[in-house]
Parts: sequence; structure tokens; C-alpha cells
Amino acid sequence: ASNGNGDGTARVVVPEIKFTKLFINGEFVDAASGKTFETRDPRTGDVLAHVAEADQADVDLAVKSARDAFDHGKWPRMSGYERGRVMSKLADLVEQHTEELAALDGADAGKLLLLGKMIDIPAATQMLRYYAGAADKIHGDVLRVSGKYQGYTLKEPIGVVGVIIPWNFPTMMFFLKVSPALAAGCSVVVKPAEQTPLSALYYAHLAKLAGVPDGVINVVPGFGPTAGAALTSHMDVDSVAFTGSTEVGRLIMESAARSNLKTVSLELGGKSPLIIFDDADVDMAVNLSRLAVFFNKGEVCVAGSRVYVQEGIYDEFAKKAAEAAQNWKVGDPFDVTSNMGPQVDKDQFERVLKYIELGKSEGATLLTGGKPAADKGYYIEPTIFVDVTEDMRIAQEEIFGPVMSLMKFRTVDEVIEKANCTRYGLAAGIVTKSLDIANRVSRSVRAGTVWVNCYFAFDPDAPFGGYKMSGFGRDQGLAAMDKYLQVKSVITALPDSLW
Ligand code: ADP
Repeated sequence: ASNGNGDGTARVVVPEIKFTKLFINGEFVDAASGKTFETRDPRTGDVLAHVAEADQADVDLAVKSARDAFDHGKWPRMSGYERGRVMSKLADLVEQHTEELAALDGADAGKLLLLGKMIDIPAATQMLRYYAGAADKIHGDVLRVSGKYQGYTLKEPIGVVGVIIPWNFPTMMFFLKVSPALAAGCSVVVKPAEQTPLSALYYAHLAKLAGVPDGVINVVPGFGPTAGAALTSHMDVDSVAFTGSTEVGRLIMESAARSNLKTVSLELGGKSPLIIFDDADVDMAVNLSRLAVFFNKGEVCVAGSRVYVQEGIYDEFAKKAAEAAQNWKVGDPFDVTSNMGPQVDKDQFERVLKYIELGKSEGATLLTGGKPAADKGYYIEPTIFVDVTEDMRIAQEEIFGPVMSLMKFRTVDEVIEKANCTRYGLAAGIVTKSLDIANRVSRSVRAGTVWVNCYFAFDPDAPFGGYKMSGFGRDQGLAAMDKYLQVKSVITALPDSLW
């Protein structure tokens, strides 16, 4: 595989980096400690930027500014319509800076530039506009209270929201959480992942230009156990919205419980099954499975990493899947001919290779791939294991890399049981022409999203989240607004003459 420019030259384009400080109360500031940390370019392993490193003192300042903005500022007090207008303006600004923002995520996260422009940034602006439109449609209910009372509910913003996000979709994760929180009238303190802090800082700058008042959006790059933990244990944070690993999700809940019982929503790991039945078009299914597990180099919480293929088409599928994997071009994410860039950093690169070794030692057979794909940078070959059984760790644990476990099944009942046999329940895919099978499996799989004859079909209107240890709470859809709202019942006594 090449990590070059598609024409044999190894040109690594590095975008200009404008924002590297913390964003607190509408200003870019250094960390109180003066410390910075390095964010690296996964194409080369070189330092991309030194970013101010937030810790407890900075998080305290950021929460204080968010608290002031919420308790005394105009954002939660202006009309939903006005908030929506500011959010729409932010969406326009993000759109105008598409090229630059996609390049930032490309260099910071190793994401394909083309997909950043075609998918990540448009999804972010769509999300902003969806919730901009929801901001003036938040209303409560009229209650049926008996006796001499009348009652109604008010939906009020929950307050200061701590947002902790991972590195695999720096842009989408930011807007997935921040958009409904803003629409609700909350203020936020965002801790982006230490691997990918750059685009979040840019969004803070654009939000200010769009007219988001100071203190409503704060961004505090830093590490999980310091900046992240300061946020989750903070007595003045009302809620934490998290996406990341199941292990860290558990720590966040503990920290919330031990501090002020803030509400928590967790979107965690997955080991999603993609189930392909005998009546499927094999070529279509092969393409879909390749996308399901190799898209964004497998660094996707909903990756369809367990591919179950029914026995009638299994052999043909395996042969074609191996060819398809070999044709999935690993290369520089800025090269338009690349299908997949490098893993985000050295840790992830080594972790994925360790899982590949583990698969071999557990007795699975490597069908294709299994090695680094370049001498430099964190590139890994698209990898497929066969002879995988459900008890193997590679079939149970989230690898977060381009590794497919291909498994054979015979009956619908059998595959439903197998599909449900991990502790996760984030997503599932089904490929079949049979409506009966599609309906039956859709209802039997314990997962928050089921894709039938498609995969990764995301929409702001489709609630997204986990069953089981994939977490709880929903992003996207109007359902996501509930995470950022409180419900207040107001009961009023009626005069005797009225009842
Ligand atoms: P991954 O394993 O995909 O890197 P993590 O769950 O480790 O995912 O990280 C997701 C986010 O959670 C990152 O922003 C990270 O800094 C943060 N994080 C990690 N540890 C903690 C912690 N103890 N408390 C709060 N946030 C944390």
C-alpha cells in the first residue's frame, strides 16, 4: 500500500493551524499551568501542534463561565426562534469553512479529506439546522389533574452540560451533542479527545462569530483522567453527555454518582453484527460489509465487525470479500484515491495489531491482511479472519480497527442468538430480500439501530444509542432533546367557582 499521493510521490499536506488555546468565556487563553500537549499527525507520527492542556483549574473557570451564562445570560432567556437563528448562522459558517475544517480533521485524525467534505461537515451542518428548527418547538403538556387544580409541564434547559467526546469523528461528535444542548438553551463545556482537539477549537471560534454569547460554549482540550474527570466530578455541572469506551463510561457514571448525581448519557462501544442471508445479492453484500467494517479505518463505534453469512453463499462471499479487502486502498487521507487512512495514533495502531496476533493465537485463520500497510505512519491492511467462533476475544471485544470476523450460520434462529451474544448492543445490519426475515431479525436483535439492506444510514431524525453495555440515552432525533431538558410540573389551584 502507498501512503503517497496516488502518483508515487509522498507529499504530506499539513493545513494551517490557527487555534491551539483553551476557549473559555469567549476568549482563547493559555492553561493556568502554562502546560501544553502534543497532537500528532498519524500519517507521519510528527507533531502537528502544541495545544494548551486544561486541568482542574481551567475546567473550574470554564464551568464558572458556563454557569454564569446559564444563570444570568441571555442564551436560555432568548426565544427558541432567536437561538435557532444563531445556530443556523453557525451552520452557514461551518459550511463556508468546509475545506479548512475537513483538512484539520484529516491531519489530526487521519480521516479522508474527501469524506470530511462530503460526509462529516455536511452531517454536522445538517445536525445544527435540524436542532435550530427544533429550538422553537419545545413545549410541555397540559395535564389532567383531578379536583380543583389545573396543571401543565414546562420543559426547561438542564443547565451546564459537560460534553466528553472521542477522536474518531471529531466534527460529528461535537455537533451531535452541542446542537441539541444549544437548542435547549444550555451552556456547554466540551472536552474533545486529546488525540483530536483542533477542530473543536475552530468551532468555538465560529460559534462566537455566529453570535453565540460568551460562556455558552467553552472548549477545554486535555486528558481524560485530568480535564475529563474534573468535568464529571464537578458540583456545578448538571449533566454529562459522553461518547467513548465502555470502560470510561463506567468511570463517568461513578464520578457523577459520587459528586452531585448529575445526569449522564453514555454512547459506548459496540461489536455490531452484519447478517447476510442466502437470498442476498452477493456483490452488493460484499460491498456493504467492506464499508461496514473498513469505513473510517474501522474506527467507528457501529462498525459491523462481526459478519455472519448464511452457508449457501458463504464460500463465494469469503472469496469476494478477500478480493474486496485487497482492493480497498490504504493511503494518505488527502489523496482522493485512498479508501482508508492511518489509525489515529500509535496506541491504536499497536492495539489493533495486538488483536490481530490474538486472533491468530486463538485459532482463527487470517484470510487476508494482518500487517502494517506502510513503513511510516499508522497504516494497517484491511484484515479478515475466518474460522472465528463466538467465544474468541476477537468476536467479543471491540477492536476499533479494520478487522472483520467472518462467520458462517445456517438458520435464522441460530443467527439471532449469535447476533445477541456479546455484551454490546449498538447496531446491527441485515441483508435479505425477505420482508419476513428482515422484520423478524429487526425485532429480535437487541441493538439501538438496525439497518436493513444498508449500513451507516444516519439521519439527524433517527435516534441513535445503545442497548446493554453500549450505553443509554439517545443522540439525534427529537428524543435527544430530552437529555438537555428538565420537566417541571406547574399545578395551579382553581377558584371554587371553576370546578
Ligand atoms: P477511546 O478508548 O476510544 O480513546 P475513551 O473512552 O478512552 O475512548 O475516550 C473518550 C473520551 O473520554 C476522550 O475525550 C477521553 O479523554 C475521555 N476520558 C478518558 N478517561 C476519562 C476519565 N477518567 N474521565 C473523563 N473522561 C475521560
